[in-house]
Amino acid sequence: MNLILMGPPGAGKGTVAKQLINKYGIVQLSTGDMLRAAIKEGSEVGKKVEAVMAAGDLVSDELILELMENRLQQDDCEKGFILDGFPRTIPQAEGLDVILEKLEIKINAAVNIDVPKEVLVERLSSRRTCTNSSCQEIYNILNNPPKVEGKCDKCGSDVVQRDDETADAIMHRMDTYNEKTAPLIDYYKNKELVVDINGNQSYEAVINEVTSKL
Ligand code: AMP
Repeated sequence: MNLILMGPPGAGKGTVAKQLINKYGIVQLSTGDMLRAAIKEGSEVGKKVEAVMAAGDLVSDELILELMENRLQQDDCEKGFILDGFPRTIPQAEGLDVILEKLEIKINAAVNIDVPKEVLVERLSSRRTCTNSSCQEIYNILNNPPKVEGKCDKCGSDVVQRDDETADAIMHRMDTYNEKTAPLIDYYKNKELVVDINGNQSYEAVINEVTSKL
């Protein structure tokens, strides 16, 4: 099963992806996670993207496509994958089509998680993330705080607010989503791949809706 996961920032793509990889035994390919890992490592890619990401802007299509072309050729993708946070622009979607054709891979569905804007802003600004790159557990200070403030329940690492989850960066990411990423819904509707999901319900209900519609 090869899936694309779409939805605005804060729609819960990461959490949904984690459930689906367990259910279907596939891998999660999150460009955001890959870029954050590159920043943490201090690699050349990391240095290039750090300021862009902190401001809530998009990293260049070329860099992202190169990253994904390499990643999709790794052996673990053969069992299936879920693209989380990619593609994010029409040029990325077109670039992905070229890569998929070259690698003879087909996408089964583009899952589109829909959530009202007010809910997204509240969710994002109260979100906290574990800084340990192999954990990255997500908390919410309103309804799912860590047991010890600022420390991850799972691994004990620091739990912080991401640079791009401050109020200004969130508003900017929403605008960027509406302008650059939302047009992808029609792009994949034209390919008859879109499966619409109501993201304004419990995660269990979201997962049930996704699995029953796939
Ligand atoms: P995410 O974790 O998916 O919300 O991504 C966090 C940030 O990483 C985004 O705000 C962008 O700065 C960058 N990023 C992640 N994926 C992409 C992508 N496909 N294209 C461009 N920038 C991306």
